[in-house]
Amino acid sequence: MHIQKPAESADEPPSSCSPGELKTFKSAGRGFWHDVPDSSWNDWHWQLKHRITTVEQLQRLMPTLTPEEYAGTALANQKLSLAITPYFFNLIDPADELCPIRAQVIPRIEETSTAPWEMSDPCGEDSHSPVPGLVHRYPDRVLFLVTDRCAAYCRYCTRSRLVSNASGYDFHPEFDHQIEYVRTHPEIRDVLLSGGDPLLFSDDKLRHLLSRLRAIPHVEFLRIGTRIPVFLPQRITPELCATLREFHPLFISIHSNHPRELTTEVREALGRLADAGIPLGNQSVLLRHVNDDAVIMKAHVQKLLQCRVKPYYIYQCDLIAGSAHLRTSVKQGLDIMEQLRGHTSGYAVPQYVIDAPGGGGKVPINPGYVLNHNSDRVLIRNYEGKLFEYPEAQDGTPLHAPMRSVEEPELA
Ligand code: SF4
Repeated sequence: MHIQKPAESADEPPSSCSPGELKTFKSAGRGFWHDVPDSSWNDWHWQLKHRITTVEQLQRLMPTLTPEEYAGTALANQKLSLAITPYFFNLIDPADELCPIRAQVIPRIEETSTAPWEMSDPCGEDSHSPVPGLVHRYPDRVLFLVTDRCAAYCRYCTRSRLVSNASGYDFHPEFDHQIEYVRTHPEIRDVLLSGGDPLLFSDDKLRHLLSRLRAIPHVEFLRIGTRIPVFLPQRITPELCATLREFHPLFISIHSNHPRELTTEVREALGRLADAGIPLGNQSVLLRHVNDDAVIMKAHVQKLLQCRVKPYYIYQCDLIAGSAHLRTSVKQGLDIMEQLRGHTSGYAVPQYVIDAPGGGGKVPINPGYVLNHNSDRVLIRNYEGKLFEYPEAQDGTPLHAPMRSVEEPELA
């Protein structure tokens, strides 16, 4: 039997990041906006108003734009708009063509090519949508889409068909219809607000929506999926936190992909949410030249814990049209998981999943730790590649044989 040994951890991260940078928390700084008063810079409305949204702005701020980026940016408004907050823009290293932040938010011409297996709706959300803006794919929970706008746009977005409305999707959710669906389906105990980004709503609008959902007796649990703490930490005001804490149990899933995104500003914003009693999880997307490396992922999940965020999922990049240049192999994802499990705190280890193409839902993907399993025994492998047998219980019969390490597996 061939036993796969865990891959050795690399000593050094890719050249675009220094080991020190991966572990430390730094401010994003002011960069081009050094003259802007604190009161403006720290105002989320100011950040939104001054987003970079055109190729001319981008080229002025970043003369190192490559021809692929220039061409992609010029065409972005026909597909998925360009938008980058000044705060997040400051995390880009303009001298580094492989900058992991740059790859996430600056369009490239490759986005206009669609591979044969790619789709505009890779997770089959539209076909599981009983009313506009509501996806009911799993038995007891729904995805409640509230807006098509985000603080910045990720170039690999699963919902790029609708977010930013660049391709005329005509997204017009009607909250009355969505809420009525939830109200008349008592099996729904969990509502996930997403979009677009729900935290772009004003505090009052959020309170109104959350109150209506909380008033439904069978809704036990509310969740918000947001990338605002990473793109726009200024939005996480004490007032917002006070609003959200009225609706417990309420969980938040953030979306961060690389340790550089976890700045002092982000750590403070997440601390405010955690202090409001909101459990925080993170969802990362595995992306080529961004985080497809075990050293980077390990630093990222460890930094997330320092920010009081549990790493929740690593997603294999969905088969979204125009994302092939950002996609990694599943093997690479499994190798990374192999180098996390057992090598760092269990709390830091997320679940690697593939959202099954066409609407099958999330499927957990794990390295092979169970090597054989029959009615008597399970043969398992630990993170060091050592083998162990565990006796299988026979309908309540006490187990006699203790777990033991094995040199040579004997199972058929
Ligand atoms: S923040 Fe989320 S919804 Fe918005 S563009 Fe990024 S991945 Fe898409």
